[in-house]
Amino acid sequence: MRYKQGVADIRNTKKVRQLAAELRDECALRGVILVAGEAEEILAGKISAIARQLGVTERTALDRYLPDDVVHALAEVVGTEGVTYRRAVDAAEPVTLDIADIGRVIAALGMTMKLATDALEKPGGRADAFGVATDCADAVVGIGAAIRNTDGDDEVEIGGPTLVYTRKVLQRAIELIRDGTWACPCRSRHTQGATCSLQDNLINDLNLVGGWAAGAHEPPADQR
Ligand SMILES: [Zn+2]
Repeated sequence: MRYKQGVADIRNTKKVRQLAAELRDECALRGVILVAGEAEEILAGKISAIARQLGVTERTALDRYLPDDVVHALAEVVGTEGVTYRRAVDAAEPVTLDIADIGRVIAALGMTMKLATDALEKPGGRADAFGVATDCADAVVGIGAAIRNTDGDDEVEIGGPTLVYTRKVLQRAIELIRDGTWACPCRSRHTQGATCSLQDNLINDLNLVGGWAAGAHEPPADQR
């Protein structure tokens, strides 16, 4: 409980607000526009990591151990991810799905959003969870628009940012469940090195949208 309050306090401090404003500017220079609260989340994640590493409170980490170039370094990371993302959008071949499969993908995005929302309440995974929840929302909005554009056709084409967001969040959810960052709510056995039934479902759903090529740490299950 103390920890959670610490996170909230840190984000509301004058220093973090100042750093967040700088981070937004630095990211904008690199072509990445951060949404409201995102810069604060990124900084809080960094501060929390330093605090854990050094065994000090977040307040102490913020006051004494934040590197001078922290904003620049974080902006570089965000900027690089932005470039990777834009390349992925450009390279993504659209996929065509029937309505039943679109339903599966939407359900998978909903499940991922639920897991991200649960993770938001826990220390440590906040920055990740916030990003995943935001990208999930974008993916759902994009898929809704794609369905609306079909005029009752049974096939729906998903491409561009919507496809990339969908792949990215499903891939990320699978990774976060696998490494234990996110608690998995499914009832099957969870053993190291093996996928549980929720992970299997998410992997199948990810494969429906063509898997995730750019930035994947591992190929989809059926290609290993
Ligand atoms: Zn599970």
